[in-house]
Order: sequence, then C-alpha cells, then structure tokens
Amino acid sequence: MLSELYQEVILDHGKKPRNFGLMAGCTHSAEGFNTLCGDRVRVYLLMAGDVVEDVRFEGEGCAICTASASLMTQMVRGKRIDEVEALFGQFQTEVTTDGADLTGLDELEALVGVRQYPNRVKCATLAWPAICAAFGTPVTKEGQ
Ligand code: ZN
Repeated sequence: MLSELYQEVILDHGKKPRNFGLMAGCTHSAEGFNTLCGDRVRVYLLMAGDVVEDVRFEGEGCAICTASASLMTQMVRGKRIDEVEALFGQFQTEVTTDGADLTGLDELEALVGVRQYPNRVKCATLAWPAICAAFGTPVTKEGQ
C-alpha cells in the first residue's frame, strides 16, 4: 500500500514544509528535476566557507519530495559540505538497499519506506543532488 509511505512526519512536512521560499542574499543555488513525477526543487544556500550557514528551498512536488526537501533543510544547517555529501550517500543507500539499516538519519528515516516503490525513490532523494549541485554553483550578484 502506497499509503504506508505517508506517515505522520511526511504528511506534516509535505503540508507545512520548513525553510520554504526564496532566500534573499543566498550565495549558492541549484535546481533539481524529477521527470518521473514532475517534482521540481530549487535549493538556496548561504555558505560560510564550506559550512552551510542557512538553507531554504522552493518548488513544486509531491508530498514525498516536499517532505524530503523540508527534512533535508533541517538536517544540513551548520554542516560542512563533506558532511552533507556523506549524509546524501547514506540516505541514498538506505532508500535503495533492502535490509540496509543505517542510523543517524533522524526524521529522514520516515522516508525509508520508498525503497519498496522504486518509482518514488527519486521523489525522496531529489533535494540532495540539488543541494550538492548548489555547492558548486555560486550565485553571481548583478551589479557587484
Ligand atoms: Zn514525486
């Protein structure tokens, strides 16, 4: 049953995404698309060296995509780029590997159920390649 995916935390974050909306003065930004589902996510970063000082996102996606992006923004603040990339790797493994039982993903664990639905895995992970792309995509300010 797909409804098993829609646990409380996913419903909550899907309806009321945290850190949602434009970020004025962001230093880095990139977008991710999921053509399978039509999800679109843009991630905004305020970087201090290689540390994520602030993060926001916007876009349109299904509840799983929105919830995953919302959870991601809560997890990555204050982390270094390499720590975020490691979290992405861990999460990717957990949602694609039957029997993988990793810890330390906090509320992201709510999304592990997607491993039974390969078509929805990209919904759950979309925001992560977007943030990793954003690390390498500085925003150039017009007129400066
Ligand atoms: Zn989706």
